[in-house]
Amino acid sequence: MRTVIVSGASSGIGRATAERFARAGDFVVNLDVHAPPADAPTGPREGGGHLRWVEQDVADWEGVRTAVDEVRAERGRLDVVIANAGISVRHGILDLTEADARRTVDINLMGVLALWRHSVPHLLHQGGGVLLATASVNGTRGYPLYADYNASKAGVTSLCQTFAVELAPLIRTACVAPGAVLTPMQRAEYTDAMLDEVNARIPARRHARPEEIADVFHFLASPEAAFVSGQQFVVDGAETAGA
Ligand code: NAD
Repeated sequence: MRTVIVSGASSGIGRATAERFARAGDFVVNLDVHAPPADAPTGPREGGGHLRWVEQDVADWEGVRTAVDEVRAERGRLDVVIANAGISVRHGILDLTEADARRTVDINLMGVLALWRHSVPHLLHQGGGVLLATASVNGTRGYPLYADYNASKAGVTSLCQTFAVELAPLIRTACVAPGAVLTPMQRAEYTDAMLDEVNARIPARRHARPEEIADVFHFLASPEAAFVSGQQFVVDGAETAGA
């Protein structure tokens, strides 16, 4: 049974991803600053997998190190690490405060770096593993009102490249860069009318479901993706293909 860490798996894309891996028989540990909702499954799963939540802020560098070390010590191995936790707050450049910007970078970029960095010694020690992360199409464009978020996601893509080159051939990396995904994050930021506007400009005419991102992560962590490393996979219903 593989041991998989997913950060930010109490909600949205992370939750769907954790459930996808557990359903396929993996032992999945969710590192999240918030508890999963009452209806989220925990414990043994059909298909032989297991889901567990550990309370952890990914912006806490040493806390992440301890959490990763504890998972590895208890499970005896670590196979796949998915750095997915993230936040997004809309604000124009003139409204952006230092505290806002630092929080975004601390969680979205430093949180990925901490989780990957502290996993590497364990993966190398056991002979290999896979590091995955959730980037965003926002990291590839200058989407207005998201200066700090866009920059944090571009940084994730850069980490994906450098870790792949420096740690090959034992460790593979990959990022998924979703377009619009209907999760609590989107619902918190957009009214229904705004969501309709977004759908209208996506050639697929809809948001992705979180499960559609989870399926891509599951492929990237599989032996079928053994020669995939250092790349970002845009999953956006063709939103950026013609832009
Ligand atoms: P979400 O708000 O539904 O879930 C985010 C999860 O991250 C939550 O469980 C939250 O508790 C957790 N989290 C937040 N801060 C944390 C911290 N400091 N430490 C640990 N956990 C923390 O959002 P989502 O839409 O599922 O987003 C997941 C990832 O996907 C994020 O990185 C986001 O930037 C990215 N993304 C989302 C979309 C989208 O349209 N929803 C598009 C592109 C990329």
